[in-house]
Order: sequence, then structure tokens, then C-alpha cells
Amino acid sequence: MSRFAGKVAIVTGSSSGIGRATAILLGKDGAKVTITGRNQKRLEETAQTLTKSGVEVNIVAGDITKSECQDTLVESTLKKFGKIDILVNNAGASFADPDPTKTGINTGVDILQKTLDVNVLSVVQLIQKCKPHLIKSQGEIVNVSTIASQKTSVIHLTYYGMAKAAIDQLTRCTSLELIEHGVRMNSVSPGFIDTPFLNAGGLDETSAKKVAEYYASNRDCIPSGRAGTSEDVAKCIAFLADREASSYIVGQSIVIDGGASLVVTMASQKLAKMLG
Ligand code: NDP
Repeated sequence: MSRFAGKVAIVTGSSSGIGRATAILLGKDGAKVTITGRNQKRLEETAQTLTKSGVEVNIVAGDITKSECQDTLVESTLKKFGKIDILVNNAGASFADPDPTKTGINTGVDILQKTLDVNVLSVVQLIQKCKPHLIKSQGEIVNVSTIASQKTSVIHLTYYGMAKAAIDQLTRCTSLELIEHGVRMNSVSPGFIDTPFLNAGGLDETSAKKVAEYYASNRDCIPSGRAGTSEDVAKCIAFLADREASSYIVGQSIVIDGGASLVVTMASQKLAKMLG
């Protein structure tokens, strides 16, 4: 029997990248899946891949920072599938200041607020809303963090790194509250993954390509010698969402970065200079 047979999963940010790959993997392995994101067209593409494989899908188009969208996610999942077993808090973004001279700590605080809204507040709110249902099903939560939140610094990703560091601590603290009720929470911390993430964050096409090529071709940055794929991360998320496979892992974050976090600080300084 498939490992997620009979399970119901909500995967946020499943119109693209890591979230899409996760929804597809959980679905392929037996789960019914609620997918969500703002981009209708890309959401439909995820839905089509899932339905072609015979997966039951619930589609919620909307902005995850809005309370109504979060409510619709929970309510429509319960209405269509009757329960929630797995919540993957994957939707996230990094934003550049519209003024390109403002980087790092000079980036506007409105950008900080936007970063916190999508990466932190929406995650907290969705956990609050799903918690009673996950207690009922004895379910799992997997949050998506990043290596940019760790002790090494990634220059110019200050606000994003701060937001994800909050997710790391949220995972550690809340996992203890939840495990008392039989619910597990863990997270993954990806390194550089080949998705539209950099473009979505406001980096122009040329700079995004430069960054991708720089990372992928430099073993000083990524010892594995390649960018990660969405599937690399999805497999780890699925492992943490699988009670059978990972039942004794609680409140942890698994790093998936090809070894990058062991070398990233010096490399990021060099990269910042290269980009000017
Ligand atoms: P993508 O840009 O490909 O995907 C981001 C997803 O989040 C999209 O589906 C997007 O949907 C959704 N999203 C963003 N903002 C909102 C919003 N306000 N409301 C609803 N949905 C939203 O990037 P990735 O797949 O790479 O990113 C997924 C996660 O992985 C993020 O949390 C990111 O921080 C994290 N991560 C990524 C890394 C990388 O190198 N790619 C490295 C480390 C962590 P839509 O646009 O349709 O709204």
C-alpha cells in the first residue's frame, strides 16, 4: 500500500517549485491534496499533473497572508476530504526593495513587514487554524525554512533570513506543545534550489541566472557541484510527513544543501561583489 494512502495533505505554495514537487510526490504516494497559491494558471498546471495520476485534488487560489484564504484552505479541505493529516507550510518569498540602491539593512521596513507576513505570520495563523484538526488525526506539520536562517550570514538576505530564523524557533518551541497531543512538527532547510524563487523575489532574469550559474559551478559554494532540485527537497518533506519513516524526529530541521552551509559565508561575500 502507498505510504500516504488515506491521508489528506495541505501544501501551501504548490503553484510552483518545491511546493508543487511536494504536492505531486505526496499525491503519487497516495495522499489527497489541497494545493494553493495566487497564480491560477500555475496552480492549474499542478492540479493537472495530479489529476492525470488519479490524485484527488482541492484547489484554493488566494493570498496565504489573508485570513480568508487560510480559512478557505482549512474549510474546503474538511468539506471535500473530511480531515487534515499533513500540513506543509511551504509558501514563502524574499523581496527586494523597489529602490535597487537599498539593500541589506537599508531595505525599507515595509519590505520587512511583507517578508514577515508571508514567511512567518501566515504560517503561525495556519498552524493555529489546523491544530485542532491535526490533533484529531494525529498528524504532521512540515515547515520550509532555509540555510539563510542559520548561524552563517547570507549577505543581502537579511530580512528573509530573519523571518526564516523565526520559523526555526517556531518549529523548536511549538513541536513540544504539539507532541503532547500526538502531533509532530519538523522543518527542512534547503540550500540553493533551482526554482523561480529568485525571480519571484524581484531579482531580474540576468542576475538570477548569474547567481544560479555561480552557485552551480562553484564547489566552494556547493560542495556537491550542482543546484538542488525541488524533488530533492520534496523527498525530505515527504520523509518528515511520514509517521512510519520518521516518528521519533520531533522539532528538528533537516538541511538539504549539497554541503553549502559548511562553506556559504565567504562565498556569499564574493558573490555580492560580483553582482556589484
Ligand atoms: P517559488 O517561487 O517557486 O515558489 C514559492 C511558492 O510560494 C509559490 O507557489 C507561490 O505561489 C507561493 N507564495 C508566495 N507568496 C505567496 C502568497 N502571498 N500567497 C500565496 N502563495 C504564495 O520558490 P520555491 O519553491 O523555491 O520556494 C518554496 C519555499 O522554499 C519558500 O518558503 C522558500 O523560502 C523556501 N526556500 C527556497 C530556496 C530556493 O533556493 N529556491 C532555498 C531555501 C528555502 P504564487 O506565486 O502562485 O502565489
